[in-house]
Amino acid sequence: MFVAVDDTDSMKGNCTTFLATEIIREFMDDLDLIGNPRLVRLNPAVPWKTRGNGSLVMRFGKGTGPKRFIGRIGDRDVFCYDRCTSFEPDPVMMRDRIIPHIEDHHEDDSDPGLLISKEKPSQSFYWKGVRTILSRNDVDPEIERIGGTTFEIGCGRGLIGCTCGMAWRPRDSTFELLTYRPSGRWGTPRIFDPITIRDVEHNYPTTFNSWEDRMEKVAMVPSTPCPVMYGLRGDVESDLIEASSKIATESIERWIVFLTNQGTDDHIIRNTTKLIPNQSYSITGTVISNPRHIEGSHVLIDLSTRHGTVTCAAYEPSKEFRYTLDWLVPGDVVEVLGELRDLPRTLNIEKIHVISTVDEYRKVSNPICPICSRTMKSIGKGEGFKCKKCHTRSSVPVSVKVSRQIVPGWYEPPTAARRHLSKPLKRMGLEQPVEFVNSRTL
Ligand code: ATP
Repeated sequence: MFVAVDDTDSMKGNCTTFLATEIIREFMDDLDLIGNPRLVRLNPAVPWKTRGNGSLVMRFGKGTGPKRFIGRIGDRDVFCYDRCTSFEPDPVMMRDRIIPHIEDHHEDDSDPGLLISKEKPSQSFYWKGVRTILSRNDVDPEIERIGGTTFEIGCGRGLIGCTCGMAWRPRDSTFELLTYRPSGRWGTPRIFDPITIRDVEHNYPTTFNSWEDRMEKVAMVPSTPCPVMYGLRGDVESDLIEASSKIATESIERWIVFLTNQGTDDHIIRNTTKLIPNQSYSITGTVISNPRHIEGSHVLIDLSTRHGTVTCAAYEPSKEFRYTLDWLVPGDVVEVLGELRDLPRTLNIEKIHVISTVDEYRKVSNPICPICSRTMKSIGKGEGFKCKKCHTRSSVPVSVKVSRQIVPGWYEPPTAARRHLSKPLKRMGLEQPVEFVNSRTL
């Protein structure tokens, strides 16, 4: 039986992943977890998300075959099975036991949803949920079709995320080991040793997004008042379990390894014929403007693409990444990945692939007259040059080729400015060809 919950937290507190651990604890004595619990990130451009637009999905039943150690809640180990018998628990019994946990762990301004179903929704709901904007009218018939048992509070918008998260059949996936603080410490400053986090990122190549080498900063510890101590992300579950034991923190009350779609680029729409705001795209184009610095220290650049001119933006939080745009010149060809904002209509760059660069020239002087060797004078802006003595004309000044600061390759923002769904270069087996200078004043 699949169980999905979404939309229980707000900026003030709580966390749907913590609620998932409470649900796992509730059924620990009578049901088995089948597969890891899942943290499924949906469209990051959804305007009403709290933070990372995460939906939580678990499967319960009776396990068979080997079981895997995937966490600890209090003093009890958590295991999951990869296979299960045909037994299915009663969905109404499950709903009645989950509701008190939702009531205890939701914020007043959230719109929680709970979906329990033996059958998964059609896979297309995952792709729509991770790439487009849906309404309850889109998902309700599918919930009915699969015979889902539901519970909702407020407008129950969480059922959209429940349906789309439950529909996920991983094409690519990663893991996140989430650790939680004892409730008495929620909202207080987190105590941890950053050097142990740096060492984990360096010593476990299958982990990602834990530490920012450029700024020497921790990226895996949230700053919100939620129950999470840290989230360690990576490709190999056993590496995460081993690596987390090397991270020094205050006491942890529980931890569990989630299967996720984080770091997969699943939200990116490729080869589209139409650009729609609040969706994320990969677009290839030729640079047609110099970079513009706007208020707030954001950097914009225009691309000529098959969709017309697209203005791309690197916003202030992306820090040194903005140099990538600064270094581009008209004629360079790039592929940009990011969310299309409605107002102002910009593509917010999450990652950029510099495909080719043009030669760049800098004017050093007006042209020299080929007859008398004097320097020609400018006739006016855009009008060219003329030798005062011989009246020879030229339109081409004396220029020198300058060495470009940017070379073809992939560039990404610092870890803290990345989207949960963005595939890090580390996962693509790539490194940035040019590193950013660790300072920026503009
Ligand atoms: P956190 O990541 O901190 O747990 P959150 O960012 O997931 O919080 P929610 O409070 O869950 O934020 O709010 C997201 C809301 O958007 C949910 O109600 C979810 O059902 C809904 N939602 C998710 N994906 C879509 C989508 N593609 N279209 C419309 N609504 C969506």
